[in-house]
Amino acid sequence: MSTSLSSPVSLRIEAGIALITVDNPPVNALSHAVRTGLLQALRAALSDEAVRAAVLLCSGRTFIAGADVTEFGRALQPPHLPEVTQAFEESPKPVVAALHGTTLGGGFEIALACHYRIATPSTTVGLPEVKLGLIPGAGGTQRLPRLVGVDLALKMICNGVPITAAHALESGAIDEITEGDLEVAAATAAERLGRDAKPPRRTGLLSVTRPIDGIFDEAKRTFAKKRELIAPLRCIEAIRAAVSLPFVEGLKRERELFLQLRTSPQAAALRHAFLGEREVGKVPGLSAHVTAREVRRIAVIGAGTMGGGIAMCFANAGFPVQLVEAGSGALERGIATIRKNYAATVTRGALSQDGMDKRLHLITPTLIYEDLREADLIVEAAFEDMDVKQLVFERVDAVAKPGAILATNTSYLDVAAIAEFTGRPQDVLGMHFFSPANVMRLLENVRTPKTAPDVLLTAMKIAKAIGKVAVLVGGADGFVGNRMLAQRTREAYFLLEEGALPEQVDRVLVDFGFPMGPLAVGDLAGLDIGWRNRKARAHLRRPGVRDCNLLDKVCEMGRFGQKSGAGWYRYEAGNRTPHPDPLIEQLILDHARQAGIVRRDISDREILERCLYAMINEGARILGEGVAARAVDIDMVWLHGYGFPAWRGGPMFHADQVGLTTVYEAITRYRERFGAELWSPAPLLEELAAVGHGFFTAGVTAPAIVR
Ligand code: NAD
Repeated sequence: MSTSLSSPVSLRIEAGIALITVDNPPVNALSHAVRTGLLQALRAALSDEAVRAAVLLCSGRTFIAGADVTEFGRALQPPHLPEVTQAFEESPKPVVAALHGTTLGGGFEIALACHYRIATPSTTVGLPEVKLGLIPGAGGTQRLPRLVGVDLALKMICNGVPITAAHALESGAIDEITEGDLEVAAATAAERLGRDAKPPRRTGLLSVTRPIDGIFDEAKRTFAKKRELIAPLRCIEAIRAAVSLPFVEGLKRERELFLQLRTSPQAAALRHAFLGEREVGKVPGLSAHVTAREVRRIAVIGAGTMGGGIAMCFANAGFPVQLVEAGSGALERGIATIRKNYAATVTRGALSQDGMDKRLHLITPTLIYEDLREADLIVEAAFEDMDVKQLVFERVDAVAKPGAILATNTSYLDVAAIAEFTGRPQDVLGMHFFSPANVMRLLENVRTPKTAPDVLLTAMKIAKAIGKVAVLVGGADGFVGNRMLAQRTREAYFLLEEGALPEQVDRVLVDFGFPMGPLAVGDLAGLDIGWRNRKARAHLRRPGVRDCNLLDKVCEMGRFGQKSGAGWYRYEAGNRTPHPDPLIEQLILDHARQAGIVRRDISDREILERCLYAMINEGARILGEGVAARAVDIDMVWLHGYGFPAWRGGPMFHADQVGLTTVYEAITRYRERFGAELWSPAPLLEELAAVGHGFFTAGVTAPAIVR
């Protein structure tokens, strides 16, 4: 017998076993239709006297991989998931969950409510809700501890990291792994349970093994370290309820906590981060008729800090890479660094020796530009100097095959001007990787007015192929990320001369959620880079506009940051911990005296506002100019390239949460104090604040971002 109930869930009855199948591609997300279909299928199976037991399974590449994230921002629509899990658990006929792929979130919660769990060997199971600022809300925090104990439940739920089928079997989260056909094995298990005279084993009726004393306090201490993140603490509270309350009361407590978090600003921000990562790949205006160019062979020019990392990115994804250098010494050093970096990964256990050998084998060092003839994509990462870029692009233009994509990794130079060094500006764009290029996920793909749409599409696709989050940007002078960063750095230096010390500025931004403060970041990146950049751009300085030359003074002392053992902080050999340095304090005090600045106490609030609002204002300008297409593009740049805390969503999302009127008013106050040259509100910010809109509520999209 076979009955189709509602589209994503079907019911088939074979030899007394009801096979309930979810088919909701791509990942069988628990949409409203799936929840409804599951209840209907279960009820139909229960009311059929011929049915002795049921199997819940999924079509496609995975069991239910979680909630339907697109439903998150909306009002909850019944049936809610707890109703579904409860119905499965209370079923008088045994239900076997047949798991494959990524059994996550609500999918795993349903499986936990079934009476038996069988999985394929490659299955992973987990409750990653915490990553979206939530707790599992359909019994996961109550049932999982009953099966695996409090210790593992805390680890799985508070970290949100899935476990393998083997680990799940060993810990009791699942009952069986099958190497054979999953449906057949699950039906066999259901058949066996159906013959049993005893009622099915209900997870909710199991008792929780008493955990070791102090386990919850210890967990709280661990997760309190993750600063203001609320969700892990609520997870701990819910799991504690599994120990201290009867099952039904525990479920109630879990639901309360879930509902509180669901509408919290942190959950909204984390959801924005999650969806934004997917959104930025869809470029507005990039016509559906455009097809990407084929990219099989890569060439990278320059084997320095960036070129080496970029070559690794491509080799890691299986692309053959020609690595071109100007001299044999630099080439040997570059290859040695790549080898050293891979070897460190092998030592850490994150890569096999075989994997390392394969990757190294894909990278071919060369000193001959003619070797670029076959490359489909050439990424230049030579010195940051227009004359060098000209030399390189003229040489590349002479040898590259027609249709090859020519990219520059420049941080600040005008990509459109670089494109004009070739006879094919339509094939040129910026691909701005971040340091270390093989680690950082962000890639700013920089378009010029002449870049062809299929070149942009190809750059976005290739970014995905190498595991990057690519954001399409335009403009010059730092594009999106560095242009906003320059504003924050400017304010950080001003704050130092006005009265703050590096450790105070850094603490305020770390308290906000950044992994490091701006001055410690400078020490990590190398202060000489910023110094060189300042010198190269000295001609752009406007007379009469405030400028702080503290960085020059620090660098003139030979303090270039961690690499020289001292920068804004001092460092002990072999240790990256920054230590406040009295020499720097003295330097700052002397500097202020010479500049005639009377130092004052500066509040943490002022530090935060000036560092953040200067950035947000620049973000609004970037958006108004169409340098970024959407506010979400700016947010993803900051989340994936600059350590902006995901639970605040990104600078533009955060600005909306603070309220643009508040941001605007603060900026106008700073304009009164520090002058219009530095603190004029961006026209877009002014417009939105005047009508009470946010960057996101207004849905600002730059017109025709791709021509
Ligand atoms: P680097 O000095 O470490 O490396 C540059 C390499 O290019 C050197 O090995 C040099 O020998 C080689 N080179 C110079 N001229 C060449 C030529 N004609 N042909 C072939 N090779 C040549 O510099 P880097 O830090 O890797 O920066 C490279 C580019 O990436 C710059 O445009 C820089 O602005 C940009 N960038 C740097 C960072 C960073 O944090 N370092 C981040 C993003 C982008």
